[in-house]
Amino acid sequence: MLQWQPLALPFVAAAIASLLAARMVWRRRQETPAIAALVVTMLGLAQWSGTTAIGMSGTTLRMQAFFLDGIYPGVCAAVAGIFCHAQAMADRRWTWSPRRYWWLFVEPVFIVVSVATNPWHHLFRDGYQLVGEPAGLRSIPGPLFWIHTYYSYALLGAAAFLLLRGAWRASPVHRRRFVWPVLGGLFPAVGNVLSVWIMPHGRSVDLTSIFFLATAGAFWWALQRSALPDVLPVAFGHVVETIDDAVLVVDRRHRIVQLNPAAEALLRRAVPDAPRQLVGEELPEPVAELRLPLDEAGRGQRVLRLAAAEVDVDVRTAPLTDARGICIGWVLVARDVTESLRLRRAMEHQQAELERQRAEAVAANGALHQQLELVERLRRELAEQATRDPLTGLFNRRKLVDVLQREVPERLAAGDPVSLLMMDVDRFKGVNDTHGHAVGDAVLIRMAQALSPGVRPRELLARYGGEEFVIVLPGVGAAEARERAEEWRARCALVEVDGAAGTKVSTTMSIGLVTADGGAVVRVEELLAAADAALYEAKAGGRDRVVTAGPRSRAQQPAIA
Ligand code: GH3
Ligand code: MG
Ligand code: MG
Repeated sequence: MLQWQPLALPFVAAAIASLLAARMVWRRRQETPAIAALVVTMLGLAQWSGTTAIGMSGTTLRMQAFFLDGIYPGVCAAVAGIFCHAQAMADRRWTWSPRRYWWLFVEPVFIVVSVATNPWHHLFRDGYQLVGEPAGLRSIPGPLFWIHTYYSYALLGAAAFLLLRGAWRASPVHRRRFVWPVLGGLFPAVGNVLSVWIMPHGRSVDLTSIFFLATAGAFWWALQRSALPDVLPVAFGHVVETIDDAVLVVDRRHRIVQLNPAAEALLRRAVPDAPRQLVGEELPEPVAELRLPLDEAGRGQRVLRLAAAEVDVDVRTAPLTDARGICIGWVLVARDVTESLRLRRAMEHQQAELERQRAEAVAANGALHQQLELVERLRRELAEQATRDPLTGLFNRRKLVDVLQREVPERLAAGDPVSLLMMDVDRFKGVNDTHGHAVGDAVLIRMAQALSPGVRPRELLARYGGEEFVIVLPGVGAAEARERAEEWRARCALVEVDGAAGTKVSTTMSIGLVTADGGAVVRVEELLAAADAALYEAKAGGRDRVVTAGPRSRAQQPAIA
């Protein structure tokens, strides 16, 4: 039945290559558009080549004729598949639809039926000639063959046109992706032209399908380098139709030239009674009255409120110019920013509220600080008052005891001497009795004033009680203390106060002085008692004098080391 001819081998190879290619592209169906069209093409080629190989190897002329007639389903499928794939590449949105492309089936069915019924009408093929050795059939084409041939070329030409136009329109990045299908299509075209027109006198062997081997090779090479068109651009027109932003083109007279669905929807919301046909109309009233940033010199941007629609839009404009650079209109892109503006205002409001609360807190904090300062000042004043004698303003006995207990032992321990003067106004009772208590008070105040100037920092003058005063002199030895005591005594003697009935009242001061040497360990009460004893001696000695605690006094203070 079959006697394989060497010439049949390339056809067998082409059939196998086509099947492998179909398998290879089918595997990539997820990532490559319109892969079904490619698969149909590959399977068509496989059938074409395989049938040709069998036909050439048939041992009987009848068999050869039968198989050579059998190529047409494959031929038609390959051509239709190439056309569909070109469509898909040229337009990324293209999809196969039997309702739109039913006509693609008309010619194949017609041709297959014509070939099958040729013995009755001889319109596809006028007959066969025997050529070559071993003898092979050469077909004598009839008018239907030529119709089929030209139809196929028309379809392939349309496919090439779609691809070239796609390449022309594509960005340079995408352009190379169109090169491979066009190149791949050139090989079989050459083969077919050779078979049909250049060597029609040889055996009736159509070399076209073999040349598809080169196509398969080119595709394989391209696939390896990811150069096939699996990332195809989408027409910008479609992008503009799809986006949510309103895109509008107006001419210099503000007539609407073009607008996308989003722009139309926005305009109709803003102007409910806008005319049905917007293109060609001037921008309707409320929109035209807005301060659109239409500037012939450059881009503009403004956020506008479409009151009727209760919408805020961010409008960006760019002038459109003709070839000479003269402005012919503007493109406007408007974006609904109502929600983002609302959010921003809410955030600003919140921020202002936070700022207000912060300022309030700062103010409250300031007031609190002031109050705390007041409290602290009052506390200090109170503490001060607690240590002061209200009549003379001198430190009181409490402060004296405190200093004696805290500072005096420290100074002594540090090796410094400490002297203490105990003073008592002489015959003060008599002042009270003669001139009244108020004059007595005045005398006490003046005595305090007479004593104060001689007191240095870190020394202490206190009213000890009644008409008694104490001065503590840390770091002052007995001799110096005595000297200064004399000065104080003399100053007190000079005090003169207005008494009753225009008389002058003056009196004197008696002073008992005690000095503890550095390093001594002295109890406060003992120090005071020693001074008191010296004062007693001064009184006894006639008053208005200074007496240093003597041996007698020391005998009464056993703790002084
Ligand atoms: P001597 O010289 O011995 O000290 O005699 P003196 O009169 O000062 O003796 P005495 O200690 O008995 O008198 C003190 C008087 O001081 C008794 C008291 O009424 C009076 N006195 C005490 N405190 C005050 C005061 O704050 N104001 C007035 N005006 N008199 C006071
Ligand atoms: Mg007294
Ligand atoms: Mg007295």
